[in-house]
Amino acid sequence: MKVFKFGGFAVSSAANIKNLVRIININSTDQLLIIVSAMGKTTDALEKLCAAYIKSREEAILLLQEIKDFHEQIIAGLFELKEHPVYDEVANTFIEIEWMLEDEPHPDYDFNYDQIVSIGELVSSKIIAAYLTECNINTKWIDARSYIHTDNSYREGIIDWDKTAASILSLKDQLKNQIIISQGFIGGTSENFTTTLGREGSDYSAAIFSSCIQAKSLTVWKDVPGIMNADPALFSSAQKYEELPYSEALELAYYGANIIHPKTIKPLQNAGIPLYVKPFLKPEESGTRIDQSAKLDTDIQAIILKKNQILLTISTRDFSYMDEMYLSELLKSFSEAHIKLNMMQLSALSVSVCFDQDAGKLKRMTDKFHDKLLFSATEGLELLTVIYFKEEEIQQLIKGKTIVMEQFSKKTAQLVMK
Ligand code: ASP
Ligand code: MG
Repeated sequence: MKVFKFGGFAVSSAANIKNLVRIININSTDQLLIIVSAMGKTTDALEKLCAAYIKSREEAILLLQEIKDFHEQIIAGLFELKEHPVYDEVANTFIEIEWMLEDEPHPDYDFNYDQIVSIGELVSSKIIAAYLTECNINTKWIDARSYIHTDNSYREGIIDWDKTAASILSLKDQLKNQIIISQGFIGGTSENFTTTLGREGSDYSAAIFSSCIQAKSLTVWKDVPGIMNADPALFSSAQKYEELPYSEALELAYYGANIIHPKTIKPLQNAGIPLYVKPFLKPEESGTRIDQSAKLDTDIQAIILKKNQILLTISTRDFSYMDEMYLSELLKSFSEAHIKLNMMQLSALSVSVCFDQDAGKLKRMTDKFHDKLLFSATEGLELLTVIYFKEEEIQQLIKGKTIVMEQFSKKTAQLVMK
């Protein structure tokens, strides 16, 4: 059996959902478990709604209406029957948000976020399940919150692997005569609250399902030809990898190549399950295969450009050394604030770190050190990472930029610049 994951783009319009059905039909000889994301940019829209909920209830209600209209338009493009039960089913799912908006927000922002934002995946999967059924494909919808069990770290749910594996494995028999469809990105706590797994977490969900059910492979359908060595929107010479070993894919994801959620690879690698990244609009093409036996072409340098970076330099107030004690305290608090460090450099009296800009997280993190440490932050930077770099080509890439911090190893170059 195989697992297919369809991201926001693949389910962003009625036309794309029809293409999804075409892909399922091409693969009808396989047992399939399907994981879907929220439709199009719905997660962004629901994030906005969450922020509005704290400030202005009226604005939140307007935003919800826009989200509902967008889904309704997709449903209308899929189902001829104006009284199709899917309309009610979707309306009943959005009611969860309406009920929340009638109440005061929960004091934990991240808790609210997960209860609201998760609705995007629930609605999307319900519409697609109904449409598959409409197309005479025997389909069963399941609620991922009963299969992906997490702790209550909202917005970054940590998987309870034993419980999750047992739940997911119980699906195996049911796949014999039907397709199962579920949601990416979301999980559930032991108290039945909803958690999310971090932005772009649907890939990770698909990897969890794949490894727990011992799938033959996972295919992630994307709006790109496969995994590219650079963002084709920025570099016209970008080329596709035919194959990649897990370790290299892991590295690309780690440095921020915007192609696969970084947590996706490990569960697949542990279970020895190959990952295919394939073009959604050209399913016949080969895409990229990631597995143990794949060979890496080290002549291809991988170029990863991350924007909206912040460089934070931290020193002690009393000019003492930045010793291991400070460092361990700092690293712990970065982790607690869910700040992922993209680069770090240490000197006697300071440490400099680079990460994705997020004012809220930064403030929460620096506040508690104010009496001991000095923080100096520069925003609006770019981080360029080049793996298997060639000296001359780096010069090309940084032309006209001012380098603020750099780090070279034999294989990898990292430059923070503006
Ligand atoms: N819908 C979620 C997001 O946009 C999860 C995903 O698509 O992977 O982040
Ligand atoms: Mg996505």
